[in-house]
Amino acid sequence: MPERTIYFDHAATTALDARVLAMMLPYFTTEYGNASSIYTLGRHAMQAIDNAREQVAAILGCRPTEVTFTGCGSESDNLAIKGMAYATQKKGNHLITSAIEHHAVLHTCQYLERFGFKTTYLPVDSDGRVDPDEVGRAITDQTVLVSVMYANNEVGTIEPVAEIGRICRARKVPFHIDAVQAGGALPLDVAALNADLLSLSAHKFYGPKGVGILYVRQGMRLLPQLQGGSQERGRRAGTENVAGIVGAATALRLAQEELPQVTPRITALRDRVIAGMLTIPRTRLTGHPTERLPNNASFCFEGVEGESILLNLDLLGIAASTGSACTSGSVDPSHVLVAMGLPLEWSRGSLRLTLGKENTDADVDVLLAALPGIIEKLRSLGGLTVAA
Ligand code: PLP
Repeated sequence: MPERTIYFDHAATTALDARVLAMMLPYFTTEYGNASSIYTLGRHAMQAIDNAREQVAAILGCRPTEVTFTGCGSESDNLAIKGMAYATQKKGNHLITSAIEHHAVLHTCQYLERFGFKTTYLPVDSDGRVDPDEVGRAITDQTVLVSVMYANNEVGTIEPVAEIGRICRARKVPFHIDAVQAGGALPLDVAALNADLLSLSAHKFYGPKGVGILYVRQGMRLLPQLQGGSQERGRRAGTENVAGIVGAATALRLAQEELPQVTPRITALRDRVIAGMLTIPRTRLTGHPTERLPNNASFCFEGVEGESILLNLDLLGIAASTGSACTSGSVDPSHVLVAMGLPLEWSRGSLRLTLGKENTDADVDVLLAALPGIIEKLRSLGGLTVAA
């Protein structure tokens, strides 16, 4: 077993930053109060949450009261979509999203369809981009929410969200952005993005797992999805995860502050990966060539199974992803690659490499030395049989 994992799966999750852990630790031990308690220990906890909310608000360029802490990115997406849909049900029953959203959005829309809502799933082009004009054309007088992701989690394509938001605002339709993959990589000014709702998840930017953030613009009516206490201004019942909230805010602040140093370094590593991979025959870069997350290098190799690539990389201590979901033994091609029009013999051979701030040129050297041989070996073993 190799000594150290070379980790190229930062879109899945990231390691907790040591500085974030240091900020969190007291709230597990000495500062264990419940933020709803009125004695000193409780007030300390509430103070910590208030500080965290202010930090997040400063980054998003919004009011602290517009920031809600949740239990994960999926919960933020659920609260945004169900919360808006149910609150505005009398106005209409139509939702608009894209075909390449994360399942936290797609499955939420599909769930709402069981209760009388209808969803338009916007197509994307071969680079994975939504056409903002399509959003305009899809809006009807029944539309109560548009939800489009900031950047795609599989292929890294950055969506024209500010433009989509502009169209939604002109048509007076609330606009939700799933910014889970963009949180540690792209600017998050909600006014510039024309966002009414925006979801984040701390574990994607070196924060703790189990903490999400939802921005809700003042004036938006949102039906809470958890009933109980009046925490989070009645938006989300449940005793607050104080340590997690402190960690999420610290991680977001550090990630955004360090963007000017980290982004050029990661982009250079990513571009080395892309250049190296494209020397392998029958290989395609997936996602937009330039409008893509700085850390995302995604590919399809014709006639190879993505899972076989992963297993071979794992033997060398390299962690990566196909970006696609496996269901009960059968490997379905990713809905993202299908929506982008990739044929099955290509989409089955997908590989997503997502870099992070601890990756080095030496990590990329190991990858580039290994992968061409792995692909060649797998192809020589017979590759894929694709049903007609
Ligand atoms: N949205 C996107 C785009 C994601 O990539 C993910 C996680 O991978 C989520 C939502 C869900 O976030 P969480 O894992 O915090 O529930």
